[in-house]
Amino acid sequence: MLVINPSKPFYINKKEKVIRMGNFKETGKEIEYDDDILLKLFEYIKEPIDRTMLVNKLSKETKYSNEDILNVINYLVDENFISNSEDIQKILSDEYYNRQKLYFYMLNDKVINMTNEILNKKILILGVGGIGSITLELLARSGFKNFTIVDNDIVEKSNLIRQLSYDLSDIGKLKVNAIRDRLLKINEDIKVEIINKKINNEQDIENEIRVSDFVLCTIDKPARIIRRVINDICIKEEKPVLFSGFSEHVAMIGPFVVPNKTACLSCIEKESNDEPLYNVKITPSFGAVCNFISSIVSNEIINYFLKFSENNLIGKTMMFNMYTYETNIIKWKKNKTCKKCGERIDSK
Ligand SMILES: [Zn+2]
Repeated sequence: MLVINPSKPFYINKKEKVIRMGNFKETGKEIEYDDDILLKLFEYIKEPIDRTMLVNKLSKETKYSNEDILNVINYLVDENFISNSEDIQKILSDEYYNRQKLYFYMLNDKVINMTNEILNKKILILGVGGIGSITLELLARSGFKNFTIVDNDIVEKSNLIRQLSYDLSDIGKLKVNAIRDRLLKINEDIKVEIINKKINNEQDIENEIRVSDFVLCTIDKPARIIRRVINDICIKEEKPVLFSGFSEHVAMIGPFVVPNKTACLSCIEKESNDEPLYNVKITPSFGAVCNFISSIVSNEIINYFLKFSENNLIGKTMMFNMYTYETNIIKWKKNKTCKKCGERIDSK
């Protein structure tokens, strides 16, 4: 059975003789028509209709052969103006995820299979503070259900301005415990392994990275050390890792390192003669900044596995200035002499 693609708006402009679907460059398509066959066709498929029946109806009302009509229909199906109603029914029948599945379908022109194999990929989240907690919740709500979370902080009053996963009743609890309890209220199938510790060196985290499928690193203390440690293990274990955080008022999403494919942290680090005085004891932070970062980060991780969009930040860093709204995306170049990943890249 066939039906008009129900995932994006559809217009008929009879004056300009144009049929148009979607409002934006990524989703939009336009067809000019010089005959009313398309108008009749779209009249008939407002409700699901059998392909043969549609051909018969149109052949009675137009001068075209059955074969010509079938070619038009097939073209419209290929271009996704017309959907298979069985696909749409399958999407809509999933009460929990039907909106999200429609969103993927709108962007991708095909049904994205949220299979258990994908949704059970083990995602390791280092730090469940301003970015890690909201990202974790967005991933869990999107259907992912296998997480390991590492953090040793307790929930404090000063967290509540930005860390939406915690409330007054959580104050004094370990963040890992509080957020696990919250996730289980969202979806009972979620598995959350919690690790209450501070990561100081390679030994503290290499086992967890080894058994994970994706690493999100939101921690940056000990400063200048911990990210290198995480990078080096991920290169060695060939695990994708996304670093994220903010510097003053600028959100940083990336670098997004995929071993053997992109630059790593060590490739792009510059020598600096700046000596930090470590005068900032309490970091200024703001809910809008943290939630913005978490949105982009979760979009990247979900897309890494489900591939609903061709665009991504793999091998890049996105910097978004929350003061001027200026966006910069840097594409990092591999450094062939990089001590951490150079040889691996050269051998490819
Ligand atoms: Zn490198």
